[in-house]
Formats: sequence, C-alpha cells, structure tokens
Amino acid sequence: MTESTKYLLSDQEIPRYWYNIAADLPKAMPPVLHPATGSPIGPGDLSPLFPMALIAQEVSTEREIEIPEPVLDVYKLWRPSPLYRARQLERVLDTPAKIYYKYEGVSPSGSHKPNTSVAQAFYNKEEGTRRLTTETGAGQWGTSLAFAGGVFGLDVDVYMVKVSYQQKPYRRAAMETYGARCVASPSDETEAGRHILAADPDSTGSLGIAISEAVEMAAQRDDTKYSLGSVLNHVLLHQTVIGLEAIKQMEMAGDEPDILIACTGGGSNFAGLVFPFLARKLKGQGDYRIIATEPTSCPTLTRGVYAYDFGDTAHLTPLLKMQTLGSSFVPPGIHAGGLRYHGMSPLLSHIMNLGLFEAQAFPQLGCFAAGVQFARAEGIIPAPESNHAVKAAIDEALVCKRDGTAKTILFNLSGHGNFDMQAYADYFAGKLIDDVHDEAALATAIGELPKVPAAQIAG
Ligand SMILES: *Cc1c(COP(=O)(O)O)cnc(C)c1O
Repeated sequence: MTESTKYLLSDQEIPRYWYNIAADLPKAMPPVLHPATGSPIGPGDLSPLFPMALIAQEVSTEREIEIPEPVLDVYKLWRPSPLYRARQLERVLDTPAKIYYKYEGVSPSGSHKPNTSVAQAFYNKEEGTRRLTTETGAGQWGTSLAFAGGVFGLDVDVYMVKVSYQQKPYRRAAMETYGARCVASPSDETEAGRHILAADPDSTGSLGIAISEAVEMAAQRDDTKYSLGSVLNHVLLHQTVIGLEAIKQMEMAGDEPDILIACTGGGSNFAGLVFPFLARKLKGQGDYRIIATEPTSCPTLTRGVYAYDFGDTAHLTPLLKMQTLGSSFVPPGIHAGGLRYHGMSPLLSHIMNLGLFEAQAFPQLGCFAAGVQFARAEGIIPAPESNHAVKAAIDEALVCKRDGTAKTILFNLSGHGNFDMQAYADYFAGKLIDDVHDEAALATAIGELPKVPAAQIAG
C-alpha cells in the first residue's frame, strides 16, 4: 500500500460552528477604550462601522457560534480544504520530522481570507448594508471581499496600499473582475489620504493609512459599512474553520502535531489554525509548541510593545491593547505586503502575553529561499506571507535532523503565490534585500503611543 499524502474531508464534515476562544481564556482580555474618554466602548460605538451580528460576535463568550447555512453554502465551493503530508519536502530535507500543511490556497481568491469575507458580507447583507469599504495590503483581502460582495450583491470599495497597487496590477484586475472599485492609498478621496499626501507626496502607503481612508468613508454614509480582514475577534473566530478541519485531518493521518506554525500579519490565519488546538492544550488534552512567524522588517510580536494604540494612522479607531510598533510606524515596502501592519490582533497579543505561544522573526531573503525549496518539492508556490511559515517549518525540520528527533510539524500554508510572481522574479533577479526597519523611526513611533489613564492600564 502506498502512503497517503493528502487528507480530504467530505462536504458533510465541514465545521457547523466557529470556535470562540474567548470562552476558554484563563484571563479576560483588556477592554477596548474610547480615545476621548479613556472608558471602555460599548456596542453602540461600533454600530456606524459594523453590523450588529458582527459586533455581537466581537464581544461574545459563547464557545461555539453556528455558521449560517448561506455561509456554509459558499464555503462549500472550496471547503473543507486539504491537509497534506509534505513527503517530497521531507525527502529533500532528509529529515526524520513529519511535516504537514493545511492548504488555504484552494479558495477563489487563493488565501484563507474568504473564510471571513463571506461571513462578513452575509451579515452585512442581512442588516441592509449596500456598500462595504475596506483596505488591502497585498491585495488578498481586497480580492476576497470583492468576491464575497459579489456573491451577496454588495458594492465594494477597496483602498489598496500604493506600493502593492503598483507591484500587483493583477490583484487589482481580480478585484475589478469581481465587481469592486480599487483605489491606490493614500488617495485624495479622503481627509486622511490628503493629509498624508500633503506631508509626503511620494508616500508608498501602509495598512494603517488605508484603514483610515476606508473607515472615514464608511463613517460618512448610512448605507456603507467597514470590513476588516484581520485583527478583530470576529475575524479570528471565522478563521477557526481551518483548525477545526485540521484536527479531524490529523486524526485521519493518525498523527498529533508537536509543533504548530503560522505567519502573522494581523493574526487571523495563525489564530484560525491554532485556536482549536489551543483549546485542547488549555484543557490538558494536548501539548503543542506554537510558533508565530513575522518579518524582521515589521517585527510586531518580537520587537513591539504591549500597549494601548490606535489601529490606524489617522487615529479614527478606538484604542486597542495590542502588540504594536506604534501607529505612526511605516514598515519598509517588503513583498510580503500582508504582513506589513504596525499592530496585531488584541486577542492574539493577549494570548501571547499569557505565555501560550512564542514568536520568531525572519528576513525576507531566507523566506523566499524556503518558499522556492518548498515549491520545487511540493509543487505549490507559496504566497510571500506564507513563506514565513514555510521557513520556520523547514528550520524546525532541520533541527530534528541535527538532533535525530522525529517531531511532527503542522503549518498553515495560508495562500498560494500565483499573483505574486513579480516578487519571485525580483528575488531571482537579485533585486530583493533584507530590508531592515529604521530603528530611530521605530523608537519615535513607540514614543508617540497614546497616553491612557493609569486605571485602565492596570486593568
Ligand atoms: C493576509 C494574509 C496573511 C496575513 O494576515 P493574517 O491575518 O495574519 O493571517 C498571511 N498570508 C496570506 C496568504 C494572506 O493573504
């Protein structure tokens, strides 16, 4: 009998609920604060931006939240997603480790992001929203929301970080194919964008700036809401279908992971894979070493501080306690655009500060080398973001080889890189460098963190 490489679940085995880790946390999260008063915000503060169903999920402590039928129907276009044993990569590395990866690149837009965009579009449609605004870094989120908006009949306006807008014309074309409007950010459509352009006409943009533009546009119109592709609790919740499926698939494979790995931009694909396993760890049903990976040029988890900060550059959002590099920090224009965010999910930041996982940062050249090695062995070309997970998985497999230990590694391959061939072309042409962030700019940005009343910090 030949050995299995691919673990597939049937349509019937698609998860019926999302897993909400808030039900199982050893310590509750710090509150989200209103910037003017310093007091915790209530659902009413968020209602101009989000539909009530998503606000309810944002603050829910219910363990299992049912996935609505119309969302399941769309999920079934690509879910359950496959889990692979990377046998060819194991062979090339000559490692005793077993390497598994959950592959989210089978979705229409090529990443994990439709797991939440479809849910968000559904709840917005239910509550009468006509238009959604959003930001996009590498373009994956914009493409995913464009697809979901198309399915549920919503207009979608996407503010795309200018450096990606220029580097990735095909992403823009994909969004337009799904019926969305795509604008390079900073733009002159918003106060926030005009303000940045006045100070720096050549600004390449950042996720923080693009968020300001999208939030500003949504706040102005009654029929328009804002949609975020990462960071928030409800986004991480929707992504847990990844880990819920992976648990069943690892059972099919007859293996239990020792090490879990995923890359982190705002934290959603990491949370999606890891939270269902973390639930088992918290109950003493499994023991996993869990590693979040990020670029050294935007080292939110490894070099950031855990503090209250704004989610955007223009300071339109509430104050979130999170790992942050400071909202005025603009990361270098590396090719893993989806990982260029100054902040991190507050939920994930809280969980990291409870000591439940570790973080590692990698320069981009080593990540591309790992991605190329993976592609040559396994056939799938990873997204530049996903390469940060591939790199850590290969490093761990090589540690196993050195030490003669046979660990089981599971990582999330969050998306394919078929829209990112310019990045690979630049890598092969020797045009990529290990971009480092500006230490002085980082110190300045951290020095500019908002002052929060001491009573709240203590809480
Ligand atoms: C957006 C994106 C990321 C980073 O976002 P998270 O919310 O941290 O998951 C990682 N990989 C891919 C393929 C992406 O599109």
